[in-house]
Amino acid sequence: MHCPSCESTRVKTRNYGRKVGGAVGGVSGAVGGVTGAMSGAEAGALVGAVAGPFGLAIGTFAGAILGGLLGGAAGGITGAKLGEVVDEEVLDNNECLDCGFQFGREQNSAR
Ligand SMILES: [Zn+2]
Repeated sequence: MHCPSCESTRVKTRNYGRKVGGAVGGVSGAVGGVTGAMSGAEAGALVGAVAGPFGLAIGTFAGAILGGLLGGAAGGITGAKLGEVVDEEVLDNNECLDCGFQFGREQNSAR
């Protein structure tokens, strides 16, 4: 990776979009996780109810955890992926440490 302005190789990748996207995705994933937890708890309770009160408790608990984890992870990954795209397509993701020039990945000429 070279700076288009001064040809320096001391170029830093900023990845702001990925970080923000990951955080936003994590939050919305947590919201989705809560929804997933509730439907997971319902499904788990249904399955567990066959085994009586104890099974109902275990099923609800396991279903909630599974639903929450899956929802949260999916949101975080989706957010980070979206942020990555924003980094590469929209933001000037790279910054030269020598001259401070900021440029996108596919951009080869100075502005
Ligand atoms: Zn430079």
